[in-house]
Amino acid sequence: MNDRRMIQIAAPELSGNESKYVQECLDTTWISSAGRFVKDFEAAFAAFCGADHAVVTNNGTTALHLALAALGVGPGDEVIVPTLTYIASANAVTYCGATPVFADSEPIGMTLDPADVQRKITPRTKAVMPVHLYGNVADMDSINAIAAEAEIAVVEDAAEAHGARGRAGAVGTLGDCASFSFFGNKIITTGEGGAVTTNDAALADRLRLLRGQGMDPQRRYWFPVVGYNYRMTNIAAAIGLAQLEDIDRKIARRRELAAAYDRLLADQPGIRIPVAPPWSESVNWLYTVHLDVDSDGQRDRVIAAMAADRIETRPVFYPMHQMPPYSEPEANYPVADRLAATGISLPTHTQLRDTDIERICERVVFHMTSSRYER
Ligand SMILES: *Cc1c(COP(=O)(O)O)cnc(C)c1O
Repeated sequence: MNDRRMIQIAAPELSGNESKYVQECLDTTWISSAGRFVKDFEAAFAAFCGADHAVVTNNGTTALHLALAALGVGPGDEVIVPTLTYIASANAVTYCGATPVFADSEPIGMTLDPADVQRKITPRTKAVMPVHLYGNVADMDSINAIAAEAEIAVVEDAAEAHGARGRAGAVGTLGDCASFSFFGNKIITTGEGGAVTTNDAALADRLRLLRGQGMDPQRRYWFPVVGYNYRMTNIAAAIGLAQLEDIDRKIARRRELAAAYDRLLADQPGIRIPVAPPWSESVNWLYTVHLDVDSDGQRDRVIAAMAADRIETRPVFYPMHQMPPYSEPEANYPVADRLAATGISLPTHTQLRDTDIERICERVVFHMTSSRYER
């Protein structure tokens, strides 16, 4: 078994115009954040989302921080965030001096539960951040209705969901603004990178101002506000533009892989395959199943056994309320806790072969069965 090739959980694919465009940056010496690729990538990414504006950044976490900062989130404010998410969603709120207030998840798509959002609103709530987790779109109709009533902003964290669609359109256009990541394991990559999309021209201006150290666009080296250097390099944007040329095929291949997983795992005892919620036309960032196990210890034994078979998998995100900086030992988030303890993400990237999926499924079924006998 050990002579077999390691199957990685994620891997970027750089088979298009990436090297040609990067070479152009080197040849022309435009390697910092000025240059044609930044503008071209912003225009192309906005068009892909169907948004009026895209403002690209140096990573997805700074994109989230920039979005909140541009909306005026600051000390004393609260932002409602799902407890079941990647740490960047909560940290971006903390960077603003505001407080992330956690809410539970809905059980189908693992996204923010609107009913719990409603319960968590206070006079200090400034915004809500639905996260399109693992490529499932959050229930945006319900969340937008609650946000409109409470007069708070909606920031989509779409880091894992490029190309997914809700009932009202593509992610990136479903709130006041949306944040994306182009990290190496995401649906498209720039190495490190991010973007904020919006249909609000004034907000787009504010995003650009704060991204570029707060420099007045009419007066060079004049800084009316404290901004940040969150700019993307022309090299990263060159990679992003090439990645985007092929994104429809990449998403289609991910859907094929998910369908292959579904076929092989659908009727296996003790394994629950993912189901897209009715409001979500999902993309498959990481194909994530839930195991019929009593504890995360049992789930972790399956992960370790898969690793010994040279197949990389990973647990579903640990909820924020269990992390040391955000610990709430008394709090109760029953859906998120259960999803986190039993979930396992399987390899999902465009370079997997159909035979890889067969091998992964055979091993996960085997280890799941033996772990059931161990109880
Ligand atoms: C990847 C990710 C981010 C941030 O991305 P980086 O580019 O790694 O900074 C934010 N939120 C979620 C849900 C993510 O998965």
